[in-house]
Amino acid sequence: MRFKIADEEFGEIAKELFDEHKHKLNLMVDPSRVLFLRSEKKKKNAYAYCKVIRGEYEFLTNKRFFIVIVSENFDALTTDKERKYVILHELKHLYYDDEKGTYALLKHSLQDFHQLLVNPSWNLELITE
Ligand SMILES: [Zn+2]
Repeated sequence: MRFKIADEEFGEIAKELFDEHKHKLNLMVDPSRVLFLRSEKKKKNAYAYCKVIRGEYEFLTNKRFFIVIVSENFDALTTDKERKYVILHELKHLYYDDEKGTYALLKHSLQDFHQLLVNPSWNLELITE
């Protein structure tokens, strides 16, 4: 199996990061709407990636996004700070339109990500996936 559910590993830390940074970073989606997975599949240059849960699959769960941790790259990170930034970066991708009730992913536009860009320089590497 290439994917494993990793809610237990990442759910709590994502919730902490969300509560701490939601206003400053304008985070829109509570991590309770995210299903965390770990992937054993190799994916060059990505520590993690996210996807919207679409169509008929929406009926299976109240989750609306996957955040997939790429084990090979993520586990090579050496500090908690780096791991937190990866999760924060993925949370920043998640977009919810209150009025329409629609979910989407934000791209790496400087406008959307400028709040993250003011943070430590290594974070620049994360946005050039
Ligand atoms: Zn990204």
